[in-house]
Amino acid sequence: MHFTIKPVSFTCNLDCDYCFYLPKGQEQGMLTKGIMSDEVLEAFIVRYIKECPTDHVYFTWQGGEPLMAGRKFFEKAFALQSQYANGKVIENAIQTNATLINDDWCELFKKHKVLLGVSIDGPEHLHDKYRKNKNQQGSHKDVIAGIELLKKHQIPFNTLTCINESNYEHPLEVYHYLKELGSTFMQFSEVVETTPENTDFDHIAPNYEVKPFSLTPKAYGTFMGAIFKEWVAKDIGKIVIRQFESLISQVLGMGHHSCVWENCCPDNFVLEANGDIYECDQAVYPKYKLANILDIEKAANLGVIPCSVNGQKAANEENSISSLKALKASRLSAHKLQLCDDCKQCTYLVLCNGGCIKHRIDLQNGVSKSYFCEGYKELFKIMVPYLNTMVYLENNKTPYIAIKSLVPQIEASLKENPL
Ligand code: SF4
Ligand code: SF4
Repeated sequence: MHFTIKPVSFTCNLDCDYCFYLPKGQEQGMLTKGIMSDEVLEAFIVRYIKECPTDHVYFTWQGGEPLMAGRKFFEKAFALQSQYANGKVIENAIQTNATLINDDWCELFKKHKVLLGVSIDGPEHLHDKYRKNKNQQGSHKDVIAGIELLKKHQIPFNTLTCINESNYEHPLEVYHYLKELGSTFMQFSEVVETTPENTDFDHIAPNYEVKPFSLTPKAYGTFMGAIFKEWVAKDIGKIVIRQFESLISQVLGMGHHSCVWENCCPDNFVLEANGDIYECDQAVYPKYKLANILDIEKAANLGVIPCSVNGQKAANEENSISSLKALKASRLSAHKLQLCDDCKQCTYLVLCNGGCIKHRIDLQNGVSKSYFCEGYKELFKIMVPYLNTMVYLENNKTPYIAIKSLVPQIEASLKENPL
């Protein structure tokens, strides 16, 4: 069980063109804006720490822009975590656009050993096309100022890069730029949004338009494939790229790290500022609401309170949930298991599992298929010879990162015998 917590839900100081999250609040009026109340914060922290089955409890804070909740909010949250830790180790990570970071924030991050994830799409001319402030000016300069402060205070940070219509043609420029910034853990997220918006994964609209900032399917494979070749030859073992490590882990029998390619949607819930809990960050739509933390709290303390899970009543307690452990991303997982014929017969099914539900917008005989299929296939085709060699290495008790020295041989062999 893992939670991403949104202390200000839809509120953000930036206005990125491709943001999938902010328009939901505006268009659907699903949630009121505002900072999470003390009541919601405390109810959640107490219950989450208590119910987490592990000794380490991970809090991931995200937005909107979570720093808009203010320092006092996070001081309160960290104090509550210490108060209720009960011997467990608490870890905090904040995903931020970094534009609000100052020395005061850095002191707080340092004191509580917070790991920062910074959203950045590459150098200024690529980043600024879509990541703009409310005045429609690029945010790159402010992001870099934030990163410089993190470096000054020796606070570790990761990067999250959205691959979109602006940066997709520049994979190595983006990669080298992130390396030079000092990012040693990178995540890349493929951007696709549609009109009408895909809000009900049971009923995909047969006719939709892809928004102009979206990545084309093939471009995903070209972008990630180019970075993979560079990374495996020079940086494997030094730099972690989440998507690649996930595929390696999968072929080595340890399962995926990235839910996108897992065969089910893990219990990776979202807590909104008003206490509402959803199955996933990609599914903050009415249908995928599971409960509200305050209802759970009341049910736990008082008995039965009406509250539905996935729209269905609990079998034994007429609608009530009294613990976080009872929550399941079961509706999304059920969607994930529904594969189209192409996926069922696909050589890469073991790597891909049909991809994220949110991206399954191509209807095929009534069953949805990933918009990114073509790009995934291109990436897998590039990676498979290397993945097979990594499996061979590990089976022979050699760490898979030893592949770095074998890259010239693999490439020579691929030249002679192209796939
Ligand atoms: S690569 Fe395409 S066909 Fe194969 S499992 Fe993934 S989405 Fe399905
Ligand atoms: S819906 Fe997509 S992002 Fe959410 S858990 Fe499932 S695969 Fe992951």
